Amino acid sequence: MDFRLTDEQAALRESVRDFAREVVAPVIAEHYEQHTFPYEVIRQMGKMGLFGLPFAEEHGGMGGDYFALCLALEELARVDSSVAITLEAAVSLGAMPIYRFGTEEQKATWLPKLLSGEALAGFGLTEPGTGSDAAGTQTRAALDGDEWVINGSKAFITNSGTDITAMVTVTAVTGTNPDGSKELSTIIVPAGTPGFTVAPGYSKVGWTASDTHELTFDDCRVPAANLLGERGRGFAQFLRILDEGRIAIAALAVGLAQGCVDESIKYATERHAFGRPIGANQAIQFKIADMELKAHTARLAYYDAAARMLAGEPFKRQAAIAKLHASTIAVDNAREATQIHGGYGFMNEYPVARFWRDSKILEIGEGTSEVQRMIIARDLGL
Ligand SMILES: Cc1cc2nc3c(=O)[nH]c(=O)nc-3n(C[C@H](O)[C@H](O)[C@H](O)COP(=O)(O)OP(=O)(O)OC[C@H]3O[C@@H](n4cnc5c(N)ncnc54)[C@H](O)[C@@H]3O)c2cc1C
Repeated sequence: MDFRLTDEQAALRESVRDFAREVVAPVIAEHYEQHTFPYEVIRQMGKMGLFGLPFAEEHGGMGGDYFALCLALEELARVDSSVAITLEAAVSLGAMPIYRFGTEEQKATWLPKLLSGEALAGFGLTEPGTGSDAAGTQTRAALDGDEWVINGSKAFITNSGTDITAMVTVTAVTGTNPDGSKELSTIIVPAGTPGFTVAPGYSKVGWTASDTHELTFDDCRVPAANLLGERGRGFAQFLRILDEGRIAIAALAVGLAQGCVDESIKYATERHAFGRPIGANQAIQFKIADMELKAHTARLAYYDAAARMLAGEPFKRQAAIAKLHASTIAVDNAREATQIHGGYGFMNEYPVARFWRDSKILEIGEGTSEVQRMIIARDLGL
């Protein structure tokens, strides 16, 4: 068992770290404050190849793997989570369903632009009335000749309304299974299709420089060939996508937790109280030591889940453990980093304020902490 990075992985981590510090850090606070999408940063991430990291070169990818994506997400989130979630959703939720389940024609149509970062795709699973219970999908799609007619709505869909959004994949009820349960399928809906409406962006607590919308489908017609993979496989498809995605979210959470350590060390060294740096107090040192401990152990948890996945072994439980643990400690670290910053920690101009606002969603998105516990318990045979 060797958790050390290869030279190639270390070089990737280094280059994303430099990019985050030199390109993202100087501009992101303004985007965050203004709730604007950082198109120029995303364009540069595309040029670096980040959107193609875990995909084969024959489809326009970089020939890396899912762990490489996780390393990049960790380094981005160490500086900013809006940018990191934009990459996470674009790759693991946007392009991956096409890559894993698409026909050769669908791959040829969508992957080159998604993997270059020129275009983004959304993953439309959650609905206004159902999130954790994803099988409760109400959106329906019916075949009418050689077209699917889609009716329903989706909530909180990341990357679904940017100027460069090319399409969303939508889960919909397409019939009834022999056992009476809903037949769920996934359908590709290109941006701009008549009947597909994107609501204005939500006003969010955090991730304010990322793109999130409610979507409605009103007799929205797309070709029958836009079915992704086999009819009736929608449930299995999103379970696979979410299992992988949890490792990516864990990496993002570790990045935020590590960013809290970085900022706390800096501040504890600079800020003086009672005639000495606040970091000279053991109470502050212990807080930072505990934050580092949490970031480190959560990192090991996602490394382990990713290693199992890449080895082709079962990884569902380990991915849920990594996501649950990393999101919990990200919230812990954000709270402690804010405390170490005192009143300045409550000011938006300090990165830790962003970390604090961005941490809570990690316990909710791509499966809440309760859902992760359900997955772990089920996997233990309970
Ligand atoms: C910013 C943002 C971006 C998002 N991006 C996307 C996206 O791109 N695509 C997408 O499809 N979705 C996306 N989501 C949706 C996200 O995945 C859901 O919000 C999440 O899965 C929780 O679903 P819900 O909000 O419906 O909560 P609910 O399922 O209604 O849960 C509410 C509460 O009840 C708890 N609960 C529910 N069932 C149980 C149970 N059986 N036992 C114990 N507790 C339970 C939950 O844990 C939670 O605490 C996004 C959400 C946000 C906020």
